[in-house]
Amino acid sequence: MDAGGSVDDQAVRAHDEDHDNTGCHGNDDDDAVVPNLARMPRVLDLLERHIRMADIHLLHAPRPGKRLLVVDLDHTLFDCRARGVRNRADLLRPGTHEMLTTLYPHYDLVVWSQTVRAALESKLAGMGLLTHPGYRIAFVLDRSAMIELALPNWDAPHPVKPLAVIWARFPGVYTARNSLHVDDVRRNFVLNPRNGIKVVPWYVGKTSKGAVKDTECTRVAQYLLHVAEHVEDVTSVDHSRWRKAAV
Ligand SMILES: [Mg+2]
Repeated sequence: MDAGGSVDDQAVRAHDEDHDNTGCHGNDDDDAVVPNLARMPRVLDLLERHIRMADIHLLHAPRPGKRLLVVDLDHTLFDCRARGVRNRADLLRPGTHEMLTTLYPHYDLVVWSQTVRAALESKLAGMGLLTHPGYRIAFVLDRSAMIELALPNWDAPHPVKPLAVIWARFPGVYTARNSLHVDDVRRNFVLNPRNGIKVVPWYVGKTSKGAVKDTECTRVAQYLLHVAEHVEDVTSVDHSRWRKAAV
């Protein structure tokens, strides 16, 4: 078992369950590369606790042979900071429904957000993600399933999303080999760097890199479709280069 390298494992702390945080969760980001972080004893302890406590309520059962796609909400699919927009559906990233519809034949879909569950389900319902005819969301996870880490190059402790919480709950169904996680915050997959796909944050009225239109959903869909059809073990691919591989 790894003893922890440069990280002070006393600095790895449990998420503060009492901290009220129902709002928007932005895109502050860090490029943290900590070898063997996921095998540190303190991290393993936190994982074990969160695996026991995780409240996973299935909306739709896993389908045999499908892969797992975990998608963040705030600033990945939804601009939670936009003002002056009356209809919640207008805050949704262009192409979201098309992306999920395209990927649904290959992936069971999970939304994992730092938002608390009641607010999360309300957001999803308001944007039509729970009733779309083209796909179904298998389940949602909120901040209670995240664990808080403090790493040396982070400005403050941050909660992250350990896919192991899902893998432990569905052994042999969802694994490191068939799971991918799309998020606008790279540190959210610091415990599963080989499964993460970092996207440009979505803001209503803004587009990435001077583009005329935000096309991130279309590009992600193309890439994930390619992976589903051609890559058996997703950890065998460097997903930090997904843009170059997207066709
Ligand atoms: Mg986000």
